[in-house]
Amino acid sequence: DIHDTAPAIPAEIRTWLSREHRLLIDGQWVPAQSGKTFEVTDPATGEVVARVAEGDAADIDRAVKAARRAFESGPWARMTPSARGRLLHRIGDLILEHADELAAIEAIDNGKPKSVAKAADVTLAADMFHYMSGWATKIEGKSIPISALAAPSADYFSVTRPEPVGVVGQIIPWNFPLLMAAWKLAPALTTGCTVVLKVAEETPLSALRLGELLLEAGLPDGVVNIIAGFGETAGAALAAHPDVNKVAFTGSTEVGKLIVKAAAHDLKRVSLELGGKSPNIILPDADLSLAIPGATAAVFFNHGQCCNAGSRLFVHRKLFDQVVEGIAAEAAKIKLGHGLSADTEMGPLVSSVQYERVTGFLDAGRREGARAVCGGQGLGGRGYFVPPTILVDTSPTMKVVREEIFGPVLVATPFDEVDDALIAQANDTIYGLAAGVWGQDAGRAHQVANRLRAGSVWINCYHVFDAALPFGGYKQSGWGREMGQAVLSNYLETKAITQRLG
Ligand code: NAD
Repeated sequence: DIHDTAPAIPAEIRTWLSREHRLLIDGQWVPAQSGKTFEVTDPATGEVVARVAEGDAADIDRAVKAARRAFESGPWARMTPSARGRLLHRIGDLILEHADELAAIEAIDNGKPKSVAKAADVTLAADMFHYMSGWATKIEGKSIPISALAAPSADYFSVTRPEPVGVVGQIIPWNFPLLMAAWKLAPALTTGCTVVLKVAEETPLSALRLGELLLEAGLPDGVVNIIAGFGETAGAALAAHPDVNKVAFTGSTEVGKLIVKAAAHDLKRVSLELGGKSPNIILPDADLSLAIPGATAAVFFNHGQCCNAGSRLFVHRKLFDQVVEGIAAEAAKIKLGHGLSADTEMGPLVSSVQYERVTGFLDAGRREGARAVCGGQGLGGRGYFVPPTILVDTSPTMKVVREEIFGPVLVATPFDEVDDALIAQANDTIYGLAAGVWGQDAGRAHQVANRLRAGSVWINCYHVFDAALPFGGYKQSGWGREMGQAVLSNYLETKAITQRLG
């Protein structure tokens, strides 16, 4: 029975979990001002594994004040770019030194396999700090020749100076808790901003452990403040706080719109990384030995809890049955279990709320006439397990085709020609985060890729992420880009300075 697969939690992790988990404000671990705490559960068993201070508006206010002070004065404001870069690099090193522990915490808190957390989440989180550490010394302005037509009587010297945007409020989700913290913190820090980070209530633990490592690395007090708490209280207070200069959010499109409304009052800068319903297209000349496992991982990686999941599969009709059977066979091999079990390949969904949400979509699909080739319902009992599911016989208006499910559910549709109709169908979504194309004719695959309205397109691969590559959405998948040089502009203002010569 899958629900009995929970192995013992290693002793040192158990000790850490049993501690009193507080909020990081101004370099100190403090209880919430209200004194409240909330429970953190293991989604594989439903058992409470830790209690965490529950921050709300009062704690957000304290944290913003600390971040403001750290931004305006103190060692951070005076630190050289080189010292800032070395500090970021040290944070990356510490994440790698604690890789095993962080992966175990992630497995217990989020449910994902520890092996995956170690290979993907932790490795990429460390790399994000290492990559961003290099930018600290390379954020440059320009000297610009000007004509000053309305004031031509003098010569001028003009330069631009990129400057940090200031105090940044960051709000992150539960699907990659540590990695999302790294994606947000590293670019904000390399540009010289200070941060209040609101972590997801489902998965606060790895970011709190990261907070301890930030202090160990020597990050000055108040530069990063970490608040655990709920969206409607702590998150909303951060998005609306008048002394926050910029909000960076990752999560649902629905909440992204609330963030924009809250930030509008003070015209804060906003960047958003939101949902997706990404098309994955298998062209008639695809190499199926790549495309079948690739399309399987595209949708089922991280239990489908990826904003960029390849959740709408389009397959040329002559290959359709072979591909669907192939993916179903791959799915049948995926071993479900507790994240800490060495052989687990897929864990539970993150929470009972997500379990109800995803199984609700499966019910809706059934009611609307979709047929499950495999999976199709939750496993029930303790823990929040939903097996990999492939739905066929769908139509473009069905809820399961239109809405982001954020679970291990693929909808597969055949197509007849690589033509405008196929492109239109692939782009027929409010989202535009990612897409996949599988085909051996590289020219044609690129032609299709060029026409997909999505921020990332993978050809003959999927889920390939790199700290150097920009990632983000078209349409309602977001504003701005994460990672790469592109993310820096999320955290910079440009000042133009002109000096009269002579
Ligand atoms: P969510 O958008 O509600 O939560 C994300 C973060 O926003 C959390 O930290 C949460 O506390 C915070 N938040 C919630 N309401 C807020 C508010 N009013 N003001 C400020 N912050 C607020 O996402 P969820 O409820 O955890 O998941 C729901 C759906 O969102 C998922 O099923 C999925 O479709 C989508 N989602 C997308 C991503 C992504 O990476 N794009 C990640 C998680 C969830």
